[in-house]
Amino acid sequence: MDTKASPARRATLTSLTARAVDLLVIGGGITGAGIARDAAMRGLKTILVEQGDLGSGTSSLSSRLIHGGLRYLEHGHLRLVLEASKERRVLLHLAPHLVHPLPFVFPVHRSDRVPLWKLIAGMWLYDLLAMFRNVRRHRPLSKRGVLEAEPMLRERGLIGGALYYDAQCDDARLTLATARSAMVHGALIATYMPVTALVLADGTVRGVHVRDTLTGQEAVLHASIVVNATGPWSDRIRRMEDPSAPALLCPTKGAHVMVPRNRVGNQHAVTITSPIDGRVMFVLPWGDLAYIGTTDTDSGESPERAHATSDDVIYLLRSANAYFPNARLTEADVVASWAGLRPMLVAPQGVAASERSREHQIHVGIGGMLSIVGGKLTTYRIMARDVVNQAVRRLHELDGTRYPVRAETDKEPLPGGEAQDLQPFQQAPRDLGVPLDTVEHLLRHYGTETAAICNLIRDDRTLLTRLHQDHPAIEAEVVHSTRRELPQHVDDFLIRRIHLYYEVRDRGAPAAARVAALMGAELGWAPDRIAEEAKRYTDLVAESAPHG
Ligand code: FAD
Repeated sequence: MDTKASPARRATLTSLTARAVDLLVIGGGITGAGIARDAAMRGLKTILVEQGDLGSGTSSLSSRLIHGGLRYLEHGHLRLVLEASKERRVLLHLAPHLVHPLPFVFPVHRSDRVPLWKLIAGMWLYDLLAMFRNVRRHRPLSKRGVLEAEPMLRERGLIGGALYYDAQCDDARLTLATARSAMVHGALIATYMPVTALVLADGTVRGVHVRDTLTGQEAVLHASIVVNATGPWSDRIRRMEDPSAPALLCPTKGAHVMVPRNRVGNQHAVTITSPIDGRVMFVLPWGDLAYIGTTDTDSGESPERAHATSDDVIYLLRSANAYFPNARLTEADVVASWAGLRPMLVAPQGVAASERSREHQIHVGIGGMLSIVGGKLTTYRIMARDVVNQAVRRLHELDGTRYPVRAETDKEPLPGGEAQDLQPFQQAPRDLGVPLDTVEHLLRHYGTETAAICNLIRDDRTLLTRLHQDHPAIEAEVVHSTRRELPQHVDDFLIRRIHLYYEVRDRGAPAAARVAALMGAELGWAPDRIAEEAKRYTDLVAESAPHG
């Protein structure tokens, strides 16, 4: 047992094993978090266990879009677009600090695979499937209109385009906020708690074996129903139930690169068709940065090892350079990169990676475990609803208990999302002398909870200190986050709570020691643990792939 683990952490397993629960969710990505929230809101006793940090799998490695999925129209996935468009509206409302409307320019050049008439027809259909209730309707653009919107775009061969709307989100924080909402409704959530085996009684899954990687403790957790929500890891967990289970997934890898936005010169999000292989991809704004993505290639890699290769980076940069010829992006411009595996369902033979459906499926294993596979960030609430519907039917069969047929997951805001208009929340930090860029950063990360950060600053003005000279984040966030947002390691905070890792060239390594000290003060870490935590982060940075 790790004697350096805090007493609070050692108590975690005690609380998890104290009761048998109705539902145990394996996996703390957006899908697992959504299921835990829906189940807890319906009154089910719920536990979620995650092997790493919340969102540390695919759910922090996406294109960060909450979108209807314009490109799915090409493949006729109309139901998915209809559903996703509705979800876009719901999520803009539930977490307005994390999900923002985003205007896209879609330029069409003479040689493009998608002709202008087809694009405009698609735009009408896209708006129609959103029941004309998207942020705004699309607008066809003449060649001049495209260049007015995006002056740095390649003019040669340009014939026109369109302006349309989708939404951008902070994927890791959306996952975190969803998990925190589940906790508010009574769910127990434990990170760094991998499932090592399933508890099988007469062939039925009745719980899981877990190991607390922070303390070394092991335990058995009992549950009436176990849900496997492990995204690209799903088949691994299914084989704990049935070693001969055939693969349900055939994951594809998607990579992104982050570059300084002024090197590209994009004003909006820009949808491009790669001249290399005709795939639709995006150049997306992220403050002073822009990220380009994504690739979509069949992947035999394990989810832990997925990373952007040099080939991925070159493909993305070449595709962007073809649209923004003055950018002449090279690998030297890359601030960071990331790659994740899409938990895609096995497709019928001959269907290309990018044409496979993003729809989800619930699979009932021979031991009764529910595995949810496929889907996307945007539709996580629907996926969660479908799983919990199935779980409550089973619980009713088991002991006659009736649970609500639905949870109001579309009504209750996520933590920090309680106000649609965050303007009034600007005043308090401004009065405390918080610089404007930090105020904007706080509102985008914490929404209404910015008020709690201001309280910390009022008590201790030193917490106004920046964590990194090239980034607006401040020390008060470490204290706030450690108290409310379940980080267990410095990397949880620097990578997924504030994304410093992806936003500065040195990955935020100089901030590691200070973050470790502030987290340690909150979590009761001894001095050697604080030093180890700082080193863990700087080692991680040193070992990261050349681009991220
Ligand atoms: P994950 O987020 O991978 O979560 C599974 C979790 O299970 C992980 O955290 C993992 O650590 C945990 N786990 C695994 N094994 C165990 C174990 N033994 N014990 C405990 N826990 C375990 N969707 C969109 O809507 N919009 C987009 O813009 C978008 N872009 C994408 C771009 C890329 C490159 C990729 C790869 C995907 C994109 N998606 C997008 C899809 C979306 O990101 C995924 O569908 C979604 O994040 C999957 O969430 P999940 O919770 O199912 O899986």
